[in-house]
Amino acid sequence: MSFLGQRIYLTDLFSHGLQRMELCRTLGVDVTKSIIIRSGFAKGWLIAERLKRQMPDAWAEARNGKLGPLLCSMYGFGEVLSSKRRDGIKEKPLVETYFIGLYEAEQHLRLSGISDEVVCWEQIGFASGYVSNVEGRTVYFIEDECKARGDDYCHLRGNYLEEWGDEITPFLPFYGNISNESVECQLYDALKWDESLPKSMQDRINYTLKLGNPEEGYPVSSSYAMQALLDMAANVAKVPTSVLVTGESGVGKEKLVKFIHDNSPRKNKPFIAINCGALAENLLENELFGHAKGAYTGADSTHIGLIESANGGTLFLDEVGELSPQMQVKLLRVLQEKELRKIGDNKTIKVDIRVLSATNKNLEHAVELGEFRQDLYYRLKVIELVIPPLRERREDILPLCRYFLNCFNQSHGKEYTGFSHKTADLLLS
Ligand SMILES: [Zn+2]
Repeated sequence: MSFLGQRIYLTDLFSHGLQRMELCRTLGVDVTKSIIIRSGFAKGWLIAERLKRQMPDAWAEARNGKLGPLLCSMYGFGEVLSSKRRDGIKEKPLVETYFIGLYEAEQHLRLSGISDEVVCWEQIGFASGYVSNVEGRTVYFIEDECKARGDDYCHLRGNYLEEWGDEITPFLPFYGNISNESVECQLYDALKWDESLPKSMQDRINYTLKLGNPEEGYPVSSSYAMQALLDMAANVAKVPTSVLVTGESGVGKEKLVKFIHDNSPRKNKPFIAINCGALAENLLENELFGHAKGAYTGADSTHIGLIESANGGTLFLDEVGELSPQMQVKLLRVLQEKELRKIGDNKTIKVDIRVLSATNKNLEHAVELGEFRQDLYYRLKVIELVIPPLRERREDILPLCRYFLNCFNQSHGKEYTGFSHKTADLLLS
């Protein structure tokens, strides 16, 4: 998530209030107050600096004082009831603001009850840093009424440091000499980093979008198990070895096979898939090897088989465990000799194919039983990629649900944006 070009994170104010309470307990109230005021100053200063650099139109409005209240509201500090701006000379404050609902007062009341003192420390620090940057001179704010103390509003006044009278004295130790110049000096180098941020943010956003809206054939995943598997598949894709993809029915073996082809140097060459379990043996042989004209009754023209069609590209043998013993021998010959002969033809053709196969059978077990040839098994399984079932990678459930929701949105013209937490719990269980 980002706001004004910066990556941000969300937190809730209750835990924020707890954190502040812990700081007070551990470090004491005065040290905590100083930390919060000074870091608030840096935060306000930085926001003004970013407006100046990235949103010149907004920056032009900042000097007339209209932007500050809006930023307080957008950042969730609270609402500005009224804000006055003067020239800041002769004890009239430069800025005078009444707030309602400042979060620090609210959380203080919730966690510690009525306070003896004003408590909106981040707010005075933030306002000071922001206005200091806008003015180009150090400005300090004080709070003299606070909702946490039982007052009706939180009342803040800010002025140039050198224009303040005695009223600023109790607050000075907490500001600890922080100034427009000291913050600029401290953050100058870190701000240079901003320029490199958009690029890295963009990469991150693109990566996230890719996960949320996978390209055709890209397996949906956010689990570590699948990411590791995809990394390995992407590496394996670059070399022309045979890959056997295994896993239970429905885990997405075809998607992974397509992913390997699409990431391989053969991606612009044919990708030919055949389900070895779907055809009777003689039909399968005809489909894979093709036939010569007159090879058998009814073969009145030459038929190019799938292996030949895949020449230069990838042949995908789905359900390879279903191949009959005779077909296993014929296929092995193609893989060993890198050539094939059409049915009824006496000349051989050189073929250059990469074979990817998939099965939900335990082929090793089939080899032990003598149902699957060991030599073919080793040819197919130079590398084996095992896709874990969804129950072992539950992190993928919701990404997949969102993927399918998106598919159904498109096909049914709907605009559902997601799942309620109850639905999500149901899906996860
Ligand atoms: Zn307050």
